[in-house]
Amino acid sequence: MQSKKLYPPDWAFEFHGHRCPFMPIGYRMGKLALEYLEIDREKDHSLFVFPEAGIGHPQICFIDGIQAATGATYGKSLIEKTFYGKLAAVFYHVRFLEKGAIRYALKSDFMDAMGKFEFFNYRKRGVEPSQIPQKVSDKVINWVYEQNDDFMFNIKPIYDFKFSPPRGSFNKAKCSLCGEYVFERYLRTEDGKPVCISCSGYGK
Ligand SMILES: [Zn+2]
Ligand SMILES: [Zn+2]
Repeated sequence: MQSKKLYPPDWAFEFHGHRCPFMPIGYRMGKLALEYLEIDREKDHSLFVFPEAGIGHPQICFIDGIQAATGATYGKSLIEKTFYGKLAAVFYHVRFLEKGAIRYALKSDFMDAMGKFEFFNYRKRGVEPSQIPQKVSDKVINWVYEQNDDFMFNIKPIYDFKFSPPRGSFNKAKCSLCGEYVFERYLRTEDGKPVCISCSGYGK
């Protein structure tokens, strides 16, 4: 068995909404990344994660595990998907430039082995994870817990990783049409007056 600190706590399953193997996989990725970068769970805005997932493939549940483990959340704008359609993620911390970033990708052999579990027969028949009997889900989840990191992940440091976090600003103005506040970066001008994107009819 792997160290228990790599298992998601109950609240992470609650946050995620159902029991599936991908959330715990993302949780482990996140924990390993924190260890590699020698940082604690992110409290503020310094750890950025770039999951290489896209849309329309259910395995993206792993991103919820990453958020639970690392504190790099979508709400804090610390998660940005690359839409490469891969089960991988790059972790980058602004204070550890010399370490660059670290990328974790699920190994194909691991995915093939996991794909043989009954859980995926249900999924392929269109059964949602919350409707799958818990003993079926727990069987694959417990198997994932037992696998070692080497079998699960390709792990690669990226020393020349470049990323500049967008600069935060509190500046805002009221849209001259709807009266709602708009933060600076998103203000547009129409006839010399500030307007929001929805009122302007412009694209982003
Ligand atoms: Zn899930
Ligand atoms: Zn407006």
